[in-house]
Amino acid sequence: RRAANREAAPIDCVMADGTRLPVYANVGSVADAARGLAFGAEGSGLLRTEFLFLDRPTAPTEAEQQAEYQAIADALRGKPLTIRTLDIGGDKPLPYLKQAAEENPILGVRGIRVSRRRPDLLRQQFRAILKVTPVSVVRIMMPMIADIGELRWAKGIFEEEKAALGVTADVPLGIMIEVPAAVAMADKLAQEADFFSIGTNDLTQYVLAMDRGNTELAPEIDSLHPAVLKTIGDAAAAGARHGCPVGVCGGLASELPAAPILIGLGVTSLSATRSGIPDLKAFIRTLDKGTCRAVAEEALSLDSAAEVRAMVARRWPGL
Ligand code: PEP
Ligand code: MG
Repeated sequence: RRAANREAAPIDCVMADGTRLPVYANVGSVADAARGLAFGAEGSGLLRTEFLFLDRPTAPTEAEQQAEYQAIADALRGKPLTIRTLDIGGDKPLPYLKQAAEENPILGVRGIRVSRRRPDLLRQQFRAILKVTPVSVVRIMMPMIADIGELRWAKGIFEEEKAALGVTADVPLGIMIEVPAAVAMADKLAQEADFFSIGTNDLTQYVLAMDRGNTELAPEIDSLHPAVLKTIGDAAAAGARHGCPVGVCGGLASELPAAPILIGLGVTSLSATRSGIPDLKAFIRTLDKGTCRAVAEEALSLDSAAEVRAMVARRWPGL
């Protein structure tokens, strides 16, 4: 028999009431993708492409990118691969990206804001991704969307590159929900994005106004804060209203106590750190939607992340 915490092949994660709740892995390399599968991931819900761009004097070529994305898709053996476009910020300078020094890089030129200043890089990345075969496994998402104009602009560029390459397949184009403005605009965004993926690391930082890298504040930066949960619930409800699937790929997706709450708030898939996937899937298989909704509702009524954690611990003492 195989080790109990490994799955020979990823088996669909199905809740006790029959609801499918896919669990994907966050990956940053080819090796990550292969290992993720070994831990039961049903594909990747987040490929951080930064790894290709950092620590080098020039940007990777289109061919280099294409080869990496293809190798990762191959490692996932036909399972979905969600590729996030370059998410670089003022605090992670690239020598070939001339960015002005910023006093508050966390609030500066990051993610899609970099892409808008360097559309050549975004076009090149779109082309490299669109050349993956079969392209039907690929989904693309863009980081730090705060404004519907950003989505429309990127979509326009995407459609141009797709047409130029003669790609006719449907390649979903989604967005990260990690800026409070995107939650406030979620009804509009859900009508034009193919999916949402909630980045709870940045969303928590911006909702609580606490720098995610600040070690002194670290104990207080808890994504289970009811204020953060409220934004997740709002985004998920907007997604549901418009038929837009809503996943979570931030750190909260890897936390067992968060699973019933996120599902109860309407989240439809999770993308987690690979080592936590076996326990996460095992726990989700014991849950049903009714329980999750009750737990989510109770969490939203509480005053703090500590209270939310205590409530979950009372219901599931073993977690
Ligand atoms: C997030 O912000 O939650 C996220 C998944 O993106 P990153 O951690 O790469 O900023
Ligand atoms: Mg982020």
